[in-house]
Order: sequence, then C-alpha cells, then structure tokens
Amino acid sequence: MKSDAENEQWFGHENRGALKYVFAVAIILVAAGLRVWPLGALELRIPWVTFYPAVMAAALYGGFFSGMLATALTVLVVLFWSPTDQPFIDDPGDFLGMAVFTVNGTLISLMSGAMHRARDQATRAKEQAEAANLAKSVFLANMSHELRTPLNAILGFANLIRKAPDTTAEQAKKLSIISNSGENLLNLINNVLDIFKIEAGHMVREDADVKLKQLLHEIESMMFLRMQEKGLSLDVVLGPDIPEDIIVDPGKLRQILINLLGNAVKYTQKGGVSLKAGVVKRESRQRVWVRFEVADSGIGIREEDQEIVFSPFEQIGVQPDGEAGTGLGLAISKQFVELMGGNIGVTSEPGKGSAFHFELPLTMSDASGETSAERPQERITGLVDGQQNYRILIAEDKLANRLLLYSLLEPLGLELREAVNGREAVEQFEEWHPHLIWMDIRMPVMDGLEATRAIRERQSGADTKIIALTAHALEEERLEILDAGCDDFIRKPYRDTEIFAALTKHLGLRFLYAEEAGTAAAPEEAELDNEQLKMIPPDLIENLREAAILLDDERSLKVVGMIRDHSHELGEHLQRMVENLKYKEIVAVSNRLTGRKSN
Ligand code: ADP
Repeated sequence: MKSDAENEQWFGHENRGALKYVFAVAIILVAAGLRVWPLGALELRIPWVTFYPAVMAAALYGGFFSGMLATALTVLVVLFWSPTDQPFIDDPGDFLGMAVFTVNGTLISLMSGAMHRARDQATRAKEQAEAANLAKSVFLANMSHELRTPLNAILGFANLIRKAPDTTAEQAKKLSIISNSGENLLNLINNVLDIFKIEAGHMVREDADVKLKQLLHEIESMMFLRMQEKGLSLDVVLGPDIPEDIIVDPGKLRQILINLLGNAVKYTQKGGVSLKAGVVKRESRQRVWVRFEVADSGIGIREEDQEIVFSPFEQIGVQPDGEAGTGLGLAISKQFVELMGGNIGVTSEPGKGSAFHFELPLTMSDASGETSAERPQERITGLVDGQQNYRILIAEDKLANRLLLYSLLEPLGLELREAVNGREAVEQFEEWHPHLIWMDIRMPVMDGLEATRAIRERQSGADTKIIALTAHALEEERLEILDAGCDDFIRKPYRDTEIFAALTKHLGLRFLYAEEAGTAAAPEEAELDNEQLKMIPPDLIENLREAAILLDDERSLKVVGMIRDHSHELGEHLQRMVENLKYKEIVAVSNRLTGRKSN
C-alpha cells in the first residue's frame, strides 16, 4: 500500500473534502441533463462531447480523484441511460469510443492532480518560508534586545564616570576607549538589524522637515576630525541652488553620507575626500533631484568589483588595520537610497580613487525657522528654580540600568522611586501617583506593556506620563508600545540628552545648562587674540588639539583650565568654545599655532 506521502506525490493533496465529490456528481448530472435540453437535437450523436467539459471541470476543481469519479459516472450514464428510446452504446465502435473517453478522462485527471500537487507544494513552501521568517524575526529581535540591554549600562556608566569631576585624564581616556568600542558594537548590531529589517520589508521611511545645508555641515564637522587625524583634507562643495528646507528621512540620509564618507576615509591613505551636493533636475517648483557625491583619492575599486561592493557582507581586498568593517555599509546605503526613490552608483580607478554618487528626489518643504536638527549636546547642571517637585518612577528589572537612570536623575533633585517589575510599577502608581514612569518593556512577573495597560485602565491613570525604554528595535514593536498607552519610547542604549529631552517634552521640565550657569556670555565668535595665544606653552596647545580631536570635553576643559592660568580671558573664551562643541575651530587654531597644515 502506498503511504499518504506517496499518494500525495502522485495524486495531489487531498483538500476541499467531500465537496469536490459532490461537485463531480452534480456536474455529470448537469451534463446528462444538457443532452435532454437544450441539446436534445443531438439525440445519440457524439455522446462524449458534453461529458468532456464536465470531467475537466471536476478534475480542475477537485484533482485526480474527482476527475476519475466524473469519468466513471459518465461511463455509467452512457451505458445505462439515454435521452431517447435507443441506448447510447450500440455497437463495437461505441465501445471503442467509451474506451478512448476513459483513457482521456484518466489523463485529464492525472494532469489536474499534478497541477494540484504543484500548487499545494508552492503553498506549503510559502507557509514554511513565512514561518521561518517569523522565527528569524523573533530571534533577531530577541538577540538585539539581549545585546542592547547590557550595552545601555556599559555606555551610560562609561559616559557618566568620564564626566565626573574626579576622573583623571588617564581614566577618561580609557573610558573613551570603552565608549568608542561600545558604540562600534552598537553600530554593528544596528547594521545587522537594518539589513534584516530591509530583507523582511520592515524598513520604513521616517520623513521629517530637514534643513539640508545644516545637516551636511553637521556631517562635515563630524568627519572633519577623523580626517584631520589621518592627515586628509575634506572639501565640501554645495551647489548654489541646494534647497534649504526639504522633506527627507534625516536618519537615513545621514547614515548614507556617513557610510560613504567613512569608507572614503578608511580606504584613503593620502590626499583628500570631497563631498559635493547639487541640484541635477527640477521636476516642479516643489520637487528637485539632488545629486550627492563622495569622492576620495584612495585605493579605488576594480571595475569587476564595482557592483559586488553593494552586496551584503562583500569586502574586496584587505581591510585597513584597526578599521575592519562588516561589508554591510554599502548594502544598507543602497537599500536606503532605493527606499527613498533614488539610485546609487560608483565610478572608480584602482590606485587613483573612487567616487560614490547617489541621486534623490526631494520635496521642498515650506517649513521656516524650526529646525529638526538636535540641540548640540550641552551639559546640564541642574533644574531651573521654581518648578514643581516631580515624582518619577523607574520601572526596570536590571539593577545596572536602574542605577544608571538613578544616577542621571538624582543629581537634578527629582523625587525618585524604583520598581523591579510591572506589578510593582502598578502598585507604586496606585500608592504614589508619579508624574512620569520610565517603563522598561521586558520585565519578569508583569511586562511593561501589561503594566502600562493596567495603569491606563485605572482612575487617574491617564494623568501619568509613561515613557517606554526598550532595547527592541523593530517598527512593529514601536506601534505595540504606543498602542499599549505609552506616551513615548526611547531606545536603549540611550544618551542622557534623550532622557532630559523627554522630561522637557512630557513634563515641561526646564534645565540649567553649563553655559547658562557660567559667567555672562561674551561674544563667542570673536577672534581669538593671537598675541595671547602665543603666550601659551606649545605643549599645552598640542594637548588641547589632541583632546579636541578626540572630542574629549573633560580633557579639553582640564587643558583649558591650565591655559586660564596663563591668560584668564583666553581660557574663558576657549571654555565657551569647548562647551559649544567648537572642536573643529579649536583644532584649526591649534594647527595654526603649532605650524601644522590646516585642512
Ligand atoms: P566595509 O567597509 O564595512 O567593509 P562596505 O559595505 O561599506 O563595508 O564596503 C564594502 C567594500 O567595498 C569594502 O570592504 C571595500 O572593499 C570596498 N569599498 C567601499 N568603499 C570604498 C572606497 N571608498 N574605496 C575603496 N574601496 C571601497
């Protein structure tokens, strides 16, 4: 006896149950009926002609077995029934016709069975692929959660200790290494996740009003120091017609440019890098195509490799020391560009350099004044006086992450309590009515989503702001979090500025910044006094230059303190420059004084 699997292989998956047999019987009866009316005039001529379509329909609908049932029923009908007084089957020729019909009916049924089988296999393969994809999605979301959660504590504490007043320059340097390595790891996790999200079709555009020139200049400042370190020049050329305000996904545009510029620096040992942007086509008053180009004078890419470099995990040649990548940057950039409706390409000559270019269709916005760019990182020193005493609950199961939030918020003088799971959070809510809850999503006993729903159901539950803290990274989870009733969500690892910004957004908290707390601001853009600068010992200037290149604010401030001993005015001026993150300008001045070539 054949097994089910074998039967299935030959005759197709048995689906539609008994319905297909009912259909086979019904359609043969209809075909027989047709011989009476309206095809009665045919009398006994070509009896099979009306039954062929009926057998085909039964086989198409139900597969092999219902095709065969229809064939057998036809034979019975033709043998024992007739629309006239005479039988259908009368002589040997008629029997031959019946045999041919039976063979044909069997062939039709077999073919139809094969079609059913192919369709069933395709459906099953699709279902399996979908299930596997779902499993992959859950696995990746979990993995990324597990990796991001401890990173949150590592990066947060490294930063916190680095900024502490009693941290020595040596310790600060080591902590910077921890931070940088952590950031690299986070980047890697994000890149892998991005690739997965793109593949699974989860990637979406998050358009916003953006000041294009400002975004490009921010990227220039970011890259400038890396290039300085490597002795490369950076030229930024923006066409005169570049629109001011555009609607674009700023995160993705920034990531593309940083990927391309990062590669340009990585694969270039001498010479320089340029970033150009200009309008290439004006589709309408509101819509233009902008071309961006990142060119370098580096190792270049052979023609046969120029397409491959855009595939995931493809790397050509040896990676430069200490700058090993993952081979994902260009693949992600390509996908991002395509998601934004543009195209990307490269021209290159080995040994001479490469030029990566992409074109994007951009809609101009009529936003004026408001900028989507983040506020520069400013040091918060406390709360502006006269504000309400806010009660804040930290619901988080991991001690390290609870401590981190505590350490960030406690110095500000906020009233804090902690909960280690969702149930405790709900209890604390009932007892203490906090103004705001930082709600970790994944917690034992009761998770953050459930706790949020429970709080929202309670009386006065709507008065408390709930901000989810999550190491999850998928778009669906964002919607789930907001659906549960959270007012906002912040991804781990977070920056302290994100925590403070959320407090301002949701509670209206106003902070004192280092510059406001300091002495009255002098005209900051005033030129540094050259005479005074020359009085400063060169090793101090060199030290300041290094600190600025490393974007190390603590170390920079320490050096500035020493400079203040030589010239109070100059020290004050440099302090404001550090506080306002004018590292690029500090490096330029130091270069001038130490006789280095400034790019
Ligand atoms: P990664 O740089 O992390 O290896 P990418 O996807 O960004 O990954 O780049 C893929 C490969 O393309 C690199 O490994 C490198 O071989 C090549 N490549 C990218 N940019 C350049 C460039 N500017 N000059 C020379 N080769 C490049």
